[in-house]
Amino acid sequence: MASITRRTFLGIASYFALAPTLGSRGYAAPDDTKVTLLGTRGGPRVVKQGPANPSNLVTAAGRSYVVDCGYGVTRQLVDAGIEAHEVRTILITHNHSDHMLELGPLVYNAWAGGLREPIDVWGPPPLNRMIASFLDYIAYDIDIRMEGEGRPDLRNLVRVREFEAPGPVFEADGLKVSATKVRHPPLSHAYAYRFDTPGRSIVLSGDTTYSPELIALAKGADVLVHEVMHLASVDQLLSRVPNAPTLRKILVEGHTTTEQLGHVAAEANVKTLVLTHFVPADDRSITDAMWIEDVRKNFAGEIVVGRDLMTI
Ligand SMILES: [Zn+2]
Repeated sequence: MASITRRTFLGIASYFALAPTLGSRGYAAPDDTKVTLLGTRGGPRVVKQGPANPSNLVTAAGRSYVVDCGYGVTRQLVDAGIEAHEVRTILITHNHSDHMLELGPLVYNAWAGGLREPIDVWGPPPLNRMIASFLDYIAYDIDIRMEGEGRPDLRNLVRVREFEAPGPVFEADGLKVSATKVRHPPLSHAYAYRFDTPGRSIVLSGDTTYSPELIALAKGADVLVHEVMHLASVDQLLSRVPNAPTLRKILVEGHTTTEQLGHVAAEANVKTLVLTHFVPADDRSITDAMWIEDVRKNFAGEIVVGRDLMTI
């Protein structure tokens, strides 16, 4: 893995001391590689208030890499200062709807915004079928705009890079991206991604329960952006979902509790752990201190409770 610039260690006390003044862009990076949390909600629900559905933006060497495309990703990107057509690479961790519902529309929005170069979409099966289906869904509009507005054919600009094994994903501009398979049953394909540049390393867990493969991928990383579930509050979440009787079992088997997450971060020896994909996402009785409490039992590094549009 690339060499890592050691960052100043921030313990829990200094995190709390600094938090009020750091602001959304306060976590200074040793180079320009950074991650912006576009949506920190876990799950596909769309509600009036609260965090957006899952998506992230990694910026390295001036290029934008979108990781996951939950509903609202285009709007969140714009709010983060990036227009859709500036995105050339999209990576999907897994194909639960909260991670890909707006994948096709983001590609379309890139085209509507002036895309003329190819856009690469990486992810596990059935990515090929999903993109083909979306392009069929939107074909009527594409054909009309090609003829009427002289636009290039979007179908020729989308390069689908479906993969189904861990390993290197791609290298570009000093950036190396790699993936490992994580444990998110009942899906057979769920991946975490690691971004390495000469000055910084950022890992995004996607959705996973405690996963030794993820720990191996994240070894020594500067930043680990990881999903999290507050188990004690899950039953309150379930009381608001009347039509999914086996959801609790799925949540427990496929996600990482706060206590497990402390083990993950400690065993991976990451410097900064960023909590995201909060489950439950809408329970305002869960304070930042409560999200951190059980993580802190096992992990001594910096812990950041993620917020939409926070950059780390
Ligand atoms: Zn999932």
